[in-house]
Amino acid sequence: MINGRRGYIVDIQAEKLYLLKEGKRMAGLFFGTAGVPHSARTRTTIDGIKRIAELGLGCMEIEFVRGVSMGESGARLVAEVAAEEGVKLSAHAPYYINFNAHEPEKITASQERLLQTARIAALCGAQSAVFHAAFYLGDEPDKAYGVIKDSIGEVLERLEREKVRIKLRPEVMGKPSQFGTVEEIVRLCKELEELAPCMDFAHWHARTGAENSYGEFVAALKQFEDGLGRDALDDMHIHFSGIHYGQKGERKHLNLLESDLRYKELLKALRDCRVEGLVICESPNLEEDALLLQETYNGMLEEG
Ligand SMILES: [Zn+2]
Repeated sequence: MINGRRGYIVDIQAEKLYLLKEGKRMAGLFFGTAGVPHSARTRTTIDGIKRIAELGLGCMEIEFVRGVSMGESGARLVAEVAAEEGVKLSAHAPYYINFNAHEPEKITASQERLLQTARIAALCGAQSAVFHAAFYLGDEPDKAYGVIKDSIGEVLERLEREKVRIKLRPEVMGKPSQFGTVEEIVRLCKELEELAPCMDFAHWHARTGAENSYGEFVAALKQFEDGLGRDALDDMHIHFSGIHYGQKGERKHLNLLESDLRYKELLKALRDCRVEGLVICESPNLEEDALLLQETYNGMLEEG
């Protein structure tokens, strides 16, 4: 009854809604946009969700990247509309987070930003909240890792105490100055098991300079499966877009058809590895590429 776009049980209480969703295993791969689609009637989250449904897409990531400006009552309304429309939600935490900051007050501020994102996103009925964990700031990656893990561990404890139920997902990042190789994210999610990964294929492509072939995509997915078990691929969170990159990794996002990202090979890898979860399109043209991905993927499913 949770499955199917119009088949939701409407419950305005986000907590209950979450439990309903929890009880049912998510099936398949859902495509959507990073933020409100360009063609939405207004820039509000609610009009964004409605537009996602009209377009026949499956999900949307709420962008709190410049701060969490939504209040509790607004979040409850978002949960209600998303349930009615059958749109799955995730959230993106503010960019101003660094769990390896050298000043303790900056770590505390980062923790507060992630906590606030998690609380509001959970009320929205979002299943995940994605965040950029840290910059190395010249530290040895291993030393940074310990600090980052401890700082995030404290956030997880607070959420547990507050009974806020949402998956926090550290993201694979695109610049060598940023914490977040696939190996680091897998290790972090293994050692703090409440976490789950957010795989950003554009970041990964920019950072590793990989050829972005089918074989490499499968190998990257396999790294998650080997480190975290089959569950990781059964409930994956993916960011996807074309990317312009240079020596220092990521420069800016591009539309898929203007980029060298071999998205068909990537979709084929997702299909063959039976990956399920949300695919969030971060191309500048948002819904256009999200629809391109969804149509291409569905075509591949029919091919078998
Ligand atoms: Zn991100």
